[in-house]
Amino acid sequence: MAYQQRRFGGSNAGGGSRGGSSFGGARRGGGSRGPAKKYIHPSKFINKAVAKADEVVYESKHKFADFAFSARLHENIAKKGYITPSAIQDQSIPSILEGKDLIGLANTGTGKTAAFLLPIVERETGTQTSPTVMIIAPTRELAQQIDEQFREFAAGLNLYSALIVGGVSVDRQLRDLKRRPQFIIGTPGRLKDLINRRYIPLDRMTTLVLDEADRMLDMGFLPDIRDIVNGMPVERQTLFFSATITPEIQALVNTFLKDPVTVSVRTSETSEHVEQTVIEARDKNHKVELLTEMLKGTDYEKVLVFGETKFGVQRLSDHLDNSGIPSVAIHGNKNQSQRQRALKQFKDERVRVLVATDVAARGLDIPNVSHVINFDTPQNYEDYVHRIGRTGRAGASGKAHTFIDIQR
Ligand code: AMP
Repeated sequence: MAYQQRRFGGSNAGGGSRGGSSFGGARRGGGSRGPAKKYIHPSKFINKAVAKADEVVYESKHKFADFAFSARLHENIAKKGYITPSAIQDQSIPSILEGKDLIGLANTGTGKTAAFLLPIVERETGTQTSPTVMIIAPTRELAQQIDEQFREFAAGLNLYSALIVGGVSVDRQLRDLKRRPQFIIGTPGRLKDLINRRYIPLDRMTTLVLDEADRMLDMGFLPDIRDIVNGMPVERQTLFFSATITPEIQALVNTFLKDPVTVSVRTSETSEHVEQTVIEARDKNHKVELLTEMLKGTDYEKVLVFGETKFGVQRLSDHLDNSGIPSVAIHGNKNQSQRQRALKQFKDERVRVLVATDVAARGLDIPNVSHVINFDTPQNYEDYVHRIGRTGRAGASGKAHTFIDIQR
């Protein structure tokens, strides 16, 4: 069959459960089960990468110098090494500067964070300290990444932020809020909590950003978001980012935004540039054997492995680590500082392998991943595209392997 890949199949044929630890129980204790998995035909996991050279390069209409930003903001952009605006930046910054509401259809990796931060930072420059900008993101890591970018862009501009996320102590957040920062960046649950406890006033808010709105809906944050938004002034600018537009998302747009401009930079691209193959395995133990063998190969420089359950992800990572393949895991059973540490070790290339669940990996900006490996198949095709979009970014070509059951 065209999609068989037996390259790694020869090793240790037979005894699926011989040697190593048993991964048979990995489904247990794996946390919440979402909706039933959708069947995806294995042929959808196969693709020969389209060469990047064939791609039409986006021609930006603006240079950063064209935007009416302060000299200091221009300096901060240059310091980050940005030379030309990305498509989403090119197309949304002018409208955001004009004060329009905006729907940005863009996934991670497109530069959407700077697309909304830069014009807001410009507008807030010189304002009194008082919370006026609310940025809501689905995960703690994403909120933190937005905050980090904010700090770089806002350096020297007397603009401050408070990062309000769950899983960490509230004391420092309360201290940050006392300084009345202009920017509140956070995840829905903790934000709502501190708003209800009257630590975050909403009455002077002028700008709301909802980042990865589709993910926030998937994660069940809609009621919290509604409560937060309902407490904000009606006269405000709302910027809404999502990778997809479903009827539910459209309904949200209709209630939260006024006369919005839409900018779409969504591309089916990501998967086009990723060489995708499948690897057949008999069972879980066989997958572990094949994966361990594979990762001993030298081209596997920076590998993101996706597993289905928190428990399975941790065991797999421990097994790899014990087999001499430096590996860390991120999943919902780890607290915030453990996740942060794992992510940093992977980003700094101190470990070669990061094993993650979909939820834990959502929204993370992990550059230069050489391979994405779907140890467990994703829940649906959209998640698949999202997973493999982590490799083959920004001019680099990437590879994705998906483990499937042996086809007869
Ligand atoms: P994002 O989609 O916002 O998560 O951004 C993805 C990555 O692209 C981040 O590492 C950004 O720092 C980087 N980036 C954003 N805009 C630009 C730009 N105009 N030029 C170069 N890199 C950028």
